[in-house]
Amino acid sequence: MNAHSSFRMLADHGWGRLEIDLGALRANYRALAARAAPARVAAVVKADAYGLGAERVSAALYAEGCRDFFVAHFVEALRLRPLLSLDARLYVLNGLQPGDEDVALERDIVPVLNSLEQVEQWNFTASRTGRQLAAALQVDSGMSRLGLSADELKTLVARPSLTAAIRITHVMSHLAEADEPEAPANAAQLSAFAAARAAFPQAIASFANSGGIFLGPDYHQDLARPGIALYGGVACRNQPEEIRPVVRLSIPVIQTRSVPAGTRIGYGGRHVAPGPMRIATLAAGYADGLPRHLSGCGAVYFEGQRLPILGSVSMDSMTVDVSAIEPGRITLGTPVEVIGPHQTLEMLAEAAGTIAYEILTRLGQRYARDYIQGETAA
Ligand SMILES: *Cc1c(COP(=O)(O)O)cnc(C)c1O
Repeated sequence: MNAHSSFRMLADHGWGRLEIDLGALRANYRALAARAAPARVAAVVKADAYGLGAERVSAALYAEGCRDFFVAHFVEALRLRPLLSLDARLYVLNGLQPGDEDVALERDIVPVLNSLEQVEQWNFTASRTGRQLAAALQVDSGMSRLGLSADELKTLVARPSLTAAIRITHVMSHLAEADEPEAPANAAQLSAFAAARAAFPQAIASFANSGGIFLGPDYHQDLARPGIALYGGVACRNQPEEIRPVVRLSIPVIQTRSVPAGTRIGYGGRHVAPGPMRIATLAAGYADGLPRHLSGCGAVYFEGQRLPILGSVSMDSMTVDVSAIEPGRITLGTPVEVIGPHQTLEMLAEAAGTIAYEILTRLGQRYARDYIQGETAA
């Protein structure tokens, strides 16, 4: 049974279908790599590659030449490391927590050192094992989230013993407003980063996230770290069209009914039918990552026609208005579009009052997942 027919079976059993286009993912990587060249491009695969599956995503990007992968948590690195090729480098953005040093060393996981304490810990581990260990050093250039402050960096530079046993292979920082190309904070962060980077001229400089790549060549440095644009999200205002959608989500209808005027629909009776309506219940709700904020304001699509969500989104289902669709066209099992050509990820996120990052990372494991190769089958 091929993937498609097995999906049909699952769809008939009332599951939503999440389609992840690895061909589009690869095309996005190539587009970002072309834009960032001669800088190299890593992949941020934290949070299970923004919910799309770190193993599949990393393998597809490795095939495009990506060799640098960033996760957020140490446990994410532990899971991903055995699935990556030996020549792939894996970095932990949230840094090295006390006690993780030996496992990091053993598993060839590169910590991002975010504080003087973490530098000391890693340096101590290196001197104890007699091996010169690689590390990425993160500096805070204006986001006040992770990384050494300018003062801490001065201390580090003034005391070479702090890094005597380790090799700072990368110096990195992260942009807070790269989605706003006009924000003055971008240039301010760039110059703060340049000052920090000058202290480690041999290291690879890594600065740009997806939005940073679109800010222009000054921001590319040596190694860019996109996440969201790989996954088809919009990383900044006026993003070039070269970034393609990667995700489609469709949900089957599990019940239809016609109701008279005055019918209360869903929890709390938050929607009352203003006239006779035909409605359909769909097999996904907030436990499937469709925010409850879509209650009464979001929509799904059927053949380009907008089907408004009526009343509250439930945990495992929600109800939509299908009055505009010819009777009999939407029946049990009919898939409707939640994310696709008529409703982009951004449109859905906006309707829910959130961002594409949050929608993607919350889609979860409940859908039948279909990895397709799109146009660029290898
Ligand atoms: C998440 C993250 C990225 C990727 O950001 P996108 O906006 O998704 O491209 C890059 N660097 C760091 C430090 C991050 O935390």
